[in-house]
Amino acid sequence: MIDAGPVVMMRGEARLGWQAMEASEAPSTAIDVAVIGGGPAGSAVSAFLARLGRRVALIEKSRHPRFHVGESLLPSNLPILERLGVSEAVAAIGRYKPGAEFVSPHHEQRQVFPFADALNPSPDHAYNVTRAEFDELLLRHAAAAPGVDLWEGYTATGAERLPDGWRLTLRGENAPAEIRARFLIDASGRDGFFAKVESVRQRSPRHNSAAIFAHFRDVSSDAWAADGSIAIYWFEHGWIWMIPLRNGLTSVGAVSMPDYLKTRKGPLDAFFIETLKMCPKAWTVLQNASRVSPVRGAGNYAYTAKKAFGDGYLLLGDAYTFLDPIFSSGIYFAMQSAERAAEAVNVVLDRPELAGRLFSRYQRELDNAMARLTWFIYRFNSPILRNLFMKPRNFFAIRKAVVSILAGDVYRGGTLSLRLAVFKTIFHLSRLANLRTDREDRRRREVLPSISLPDNEIADRL
Ligand SMILES: Cc1cc2nc3c(=O)[nH]c(=O)nc-3n(C[C@H](O)[C@H](O)[C@H](O)COP(=O)(O)OP(=O)(O)OC[C@H]3O[C@@H](n4cnc5c(N)ncnc54)[C@H](O)[C@@H]3O)c2cc1C
Repeated sequence: MIDAGPVVMMRGEARLGWQAMEASEAPSTAIDVAVIGGGPAGSAVSAFLARLGRRVALIEKSRHPRFHVGESLLPSNLPILERLGVSEAVAAIGRYKPGAEFVSPHHEQRQVFPFADALNPSPDHAYNVTRAEFDELLLRHAAAAPGVDLWEGYTATGAERLPDGWRLTLRGENAPAEIRARFLIDASGRDGFFAKVESVRQRSPRHNSAAIFAHFRDVSSDAWAADGSIAIYWFEHGWIWMIPLRNGLTSVGAVSMPDYLKTRKGPLDAFFIETLKMCPKAWTVLQNASRVSPVRGAGNYAYTAKKAFGDGYLLLGDAYTFLDPIFSSGIYFAMQSAERAAEAVNVVLDRPELAGRLFSRYQRELDNAMARLTWFIYRFNSPILRNLFMKPRNFFAIRKAVVSILAGDVYRGGTLSLRLAVFKTIFHLSRLANLRTDREDRRRREVLPSISLPDNEIADRL
């Protein structure tokens, strides 16, 4: 299956195991798959493909460890980490996370949803992780797999379609390089390699928030009822996350609606603190904490690509779709799509005629699973959904179904679908019973202006 001949044309730099060549000498392609991006999606798909006997070039523009937002995993992540062979290593760097908690300005009591209460049997916990550590662990694990060549510090800058695959141009820290591969996987996250090359990305018109976040030390333990849980605090303009990490650090972020973001006048760090103060219950537990990282912003929020695949390529993780992180689902979808993609690509490399069928199924399953969450995400700031979350009745095991969703159980149908349908019906009946509130909420969302926060804005001052 694997042609052992040299496949890479190096310019100005020798690499172990590769041979410098002129373009005209280039042999047929021995790399099966070039993966752009060494985040959770790219590292996972590389490791899974290598296990299937494929030869992979994994290209990552930065050098790990590097900062990344998104620190809360879901119970549904754990079986994937297990299959990947990294579950113990992740447990060692993670903070045990037993559930999710919600705090509302309009409700006395917080709501605690332990993962152990889920409808279907699934792990009763997850982990919160520092992404610099987690992503490096996954990247090194992939790079150690026989068949994976890691190109760390190389940015993919162009891709040319050839009759037998792709010619990929890379910008290295010291010199450019080219790789030829039979198949291309875009796991480049929010940067979106293919989104830029092929203009395939469309922003979600229905969800246009942005996030501002930083790490804090000495957040009061009153922030959480159950040690290690993620706590979500609603406020007038959105919601705030508090994710306890190891070593006394807490990741704190505010996801706000664009009409509020438009009111920002000063620098990002001052605006962040002003925003946190707008949520008195959150500020009470934060006021004596110290910020220990720069304040960062992520704009250009929710989007999806028109298609998850094309002729000779496939999109994974955030390179395909980005959902609002309220349900901490990003890493799960990134790794889940990676595992499914590896299986499909492995078959298609031998039987290209199956590409349309297998990749359509890959996209359909992913879209359906995400749709489960988007229903909740689009309504998350609605007072009516908030009421249902804050006073969940377990009639017909609906509360358990909500816990299953919070745990990332989004691929399963059966009784879970039925119970979620009942939950949605109750939501719509509540809307009818609260017509004025519903109308005001919808009006606010209909007139949302476009975002006023650039992606990756950083306020470096501490
Ligand atoms: C504010 C916010 C909060 C979030 N909170 C959570 C959370 O609590 N839990 C959760 O599960 N998810 C969360 N997410 C989402 C999560 O961070 C992402 O879904 C996840 O990182 C996706 O993984 P990925 O591998 O697809 O992309 P990434 O992790 O972004 O990895 C992409 C990699 O590709 C590299 N790259 C990009 N372009 C190129 C190129 N041209 N050449 C080479 N390399 C390239 C990048 O350097 C990067 O390392 C959050 C996201 C945001 C914005």
